Amino acid sequence: MDPVKKVIIIGAGPAGVGAALNLRKTDHIFSTIYEIRPVRTTLGGAVGIPSNGLRLLDRLGLYDEVLARGVDTSTLILHSIKGHVMGQMDMGSWSKEKTGFGYLRIQRTDLMDVLLDAAEKADIPIHYGQKLVKIDEDDNGVTATFSDGTKDTGDFLLGCDGIHSAVRTLYVDPTTEPQYSGISNIGSDTSLGSVISTSGLPLAAASLKGLNATLTTDGLFAVTPCTPAQDMLYWFFSREVAIPESGDTRDGWEERGKKEIEGMKSTMLDVLGDAKAEWVDMLRELVRQTDVVKFYPNFRLPPGAKWSRGRCLLIGDAAHAMPPHASQGVSMALEDIFLLCRLLHDGSRSLENVVRTYEEKRGPRAEEMLRTALRNGSVRKKMGPWRHRFNEVMMTGGLHLYNMLDLDRLGLGKKPLAYDIDEEQI
Ligand SMILES: Cc1cc2nc3c(=O)[nH]c(=O)nc-3n(C[C@H](O)[C@H](O)[C@H](O)COP(=O)(O)OP(=O)(O)OC[C@H]3O[C@@H](n4cnc5c(N)ncnc54)[C@H](O)[C@@H]3O)c2cc1C
Repeated sequence: MDPVKKVIIIGAGPAGVGAALNLRKTDHIFSTIYEIRPVRTTLGGAVGIPSNGLRLLDRLGLYDEVLARGVDTSTLILHSIKGHVMGQMDMGSWSKEKTGFGYLRIQRTDLMDVLLDAAEKADIPIHYGQKLVKIDEDDNGVTATFSDGTKDTGDFLLGCDGIHSAVRTLYVDPTTEPQYSGISNIGSDTSLGSVISTSGLPLAAASLKGLNATLTTDGLFAVTPCTPAQDMLYWFFSREVAIPESGDTRDGWEERGKKEIEGMKSTMLDVLGDAKAEWVDMLRELVRQTDVVKFYPNFRLPPGAKWSRGRCLLIGDAAHAMPPHASQGVSMALEDIFLLCRLLHDGSRSLENVVRTYEEKRGPRAEEMLRTALRNGSVRKKMGPWRHRFNEVMMTGGLHLYNMLDLDRLGLGKKPLAYDIDEEQI
């Protein structure tokens, strides 16, 4: 096979832009990105990026820039619904010792700015407002056709167009559909001005460090700083939401989303109950002061689905979207990119071999992360007051033991965060 010289990338999210940057860096492979949105993304809250993803941003030469815009939030602090601290756990020190990287929280728009600025510096063309309508391929290449009639041909095409991927539905695998996980997130939308300044909030907000989670009978309420000065807060509430009565359709979810957003303040204040405690007062005030929220039903793609066809490969969420409860979406996309570039770099492989080896290595890792995300999702389920109280007692005891026996040093459950895709045997 002739070496891959030109790649067409559909989607300018973390997977698409990261892939273009690493293809250029590893092998000087030229790529062109096509993005359906008319301009740079302005949407999103704040994402958590653990050590396995941060080290890859470092290898892209972008770690210092993301660090300058985000904040280390390695500590998980659990609060009871009555407002006292049940305990805390360091989610980052074990993997930091192994990898040199902790756990970063950064606004999605800041992460994208870092990636897109790097793409601009590298002269990677990004065409906005381009809707993919057709993919054709033959022995010589693959051609993408867009709704305005323009076409582009390359040696390889990467579907980086997220969970509702057109590359998947038009060409790679029209039969696989995202499945609703039963859990939805509602959260402040940082890009729309709803990162909340700590200055107008009760004092408890000013000293907030790490990810602060409060378990309620109705779901999990989390709040975290998301800027280097830790003076701006991002929050989300993650809970069970039933499939709309009108069905699992885009219209049905839009309608449900509107209702969730309209009722957001009263739902949240109800859920927080009437506890008189500094912590709960702060949460109530945080909700009151939030102007813009977004509703995200959490979908996932079923494991084992098809990721490739001929000269096309799905990466990132287009291949293995998972609920966000493991904070691994961006890091999984980065791991995909690094493995793919390594395989392409090894000139002895056919494209077929590159894709097959890629799928063999990435499938089990994506499934492992999906299992973690689903496990973490279970605490978001609705529960009665007794069950809730029982969970609080168990968690308090568990955290106490964890810290007393210094179990952190064993790295229990954290080994996947020290995983290095570049050490994967290929
Ligand atoms: C509520 C929520 C919280 C999350 N929290 C975290 C977190 O804390 N940490 C984390 O790592 N991940 C988190 N994620 C997941 C993370 O956002 C995704 O895994 C990650 O963005 C995947 O990157 P991607 O580039 O594959 O897809 P996307 O980010 O979805 O990007 C796809 C891009 O393709 C474009 N596109 C779509 N269709 C087309 C088309 N037909 N033609 C051209 N372009 C198209 C889109 O506009 C977009 O720009 C969260 C997700 C949600 C919903």
